[in-house]
Amino acid sequence: MNIDTITICGGGNAAHAMIPVIQNHFSGKINLFLPFGDEAHHFQKLINDKKYLTATIGDNEIYGQPDKVSKLAKEACKEADLILMPLPAFAHEQTLLQIAPFLKEEAIIGAIPARSGFEYAALKILKEHKKEKVKIFGMQTLPWACRIKEYATWVDILGKKKSVGMAAFPHEITLELASFLSRILDLKIEPLPNMLTLTLANVGQIIHPGIMYGLFKGKEHITYQKENIPLFYQGVTEEIAKTLKAMSDEILRLTNRIKTLNHDVNLEHVMGLKDWLLYSYKGSIADNSTLQTCFNTNSAYQGLRAPVKKENDCYSPDFQARYLTEDVPNGLVVTKAIAQMAKVDMPIIDEVILTISKWIGKEYIKRGCLKGKDIKDTRIPQKYGMTNLEEIIVY
Ligand code: NAD
Repeated sequence: MNIDTITICGGGNAAHAMIPVIQNHFSGKINLFLPFGDEAHHFQKLINDKKYLTATIGDNEIYGQPDKVSKLAKEACKEADLILMPLPAFAHEQTLLQIAPFLKEEAIIGAIPARSGFEYAALKILKEHKKEKVKIFGMQTLPWACRIKEYATWVDILGKKKSVGMAAFPHEITLELASFLSRILDLKIEPLPNMLTLTLANVGQIIHPGIMYGLFKGKEHITYQKENIPLFYQGVTEEIAKTLKAMSDEILRLTNRIKTLNHDVNLEHVMGLKDWLLYSYKGSIADNSTLQTCFNTNSAYQGLRAPVKKENDCYSPDFQARYLTEDVPNGLVVTKAIAQMAKVDMPIIDEVILTISKWIGKEYIKRGCLKGKDIKDTRIPQKYGMTNLEEIIVY
């Protein structure tokens, strides 16, 4: 795998963290593609002044700066061997559409994190641009919790995962790519057998919408003083844990159904929610007796509050938060679409999707079918012309 130039897309928290981390473990060129608003101009001006971007990780500092920053896909991507998209899922398609015409024939492009259904969108766009040789990958989550402290200047890396799953297509590149990504991102990348695993094992689709549903269903108009904003993970009650378990069980039922229909598909990495928490947060959960205590006593989740927006002197639930606007159309709705193909019912997930759709002003399900007016903004496989399981299992 010959990778001399890497292009990072976007200028958010994740892209800020990626620049210094990669530069410390990669000797080639790093380009930054910033098509959004006037980010390119702004970033370039600041980095010219400051010279480099600092990432703090605990007591350590690392530094980096991109070799080239551009608003233009051609300038930022035409030399790239590897393109990384550390972007919210709703920006994947528009970014891919911009860069596809300029991709090198043998480039590799991936979403970090992939969320659900990334492969359907990416492969369709690549095919339309006659770039079928371009390879794709997706990572199960972002390796870090990170926040920009000062744009183009300083990013705080608050926590780093022990390992992150990654699937690629074609599958033959997975092992070599995982090893390369492990080196440049400086953490263990666990190769996953297929991209369907990323969709089904996307735990964000359970945790984020599920907890929001539990915290705010029936309390849509509630307001809080700052000190009373509910804790997100530590606020998981027995009732909320029950909803989360029911959602997780529905996805496991779907996974088992797919395995029964096709014995060759490897979905062994799709875990129940509690098992995933225990696997991912081994050292940081004080009481692992129930799903609720796994959330409430996980030190990595400590103190994190529910997304709210300020209204006058009070705070109310933020129904436009990423936890809903990203994880429902690019998570739960995709999983529900696959469940329809496999003829598996998901009554609890349906209820969560229906409730949250109203909150975010979208319609995905209409009369029980995924035919709502906003289904075009999701990544269900049917939107890309795939109507049976065999077509999606190959990825
Ligand atoms: P962010 O909100 O900081 O990213 C914003 C950036 O994305 C913008 O600056 C812009 O460059 C780009 N962007 C946004 N909308 C766009 C659009 N419509 N078209 C083109 N570009 C657009 O997001 P982030 O915190 O960097 O997170 C990236 C991904 O990682 C998300 O999926 C997020 O859920 C996930 N994630 C983040 C964290 C974290 O700690 N930051 C943790 C876990 C997962």
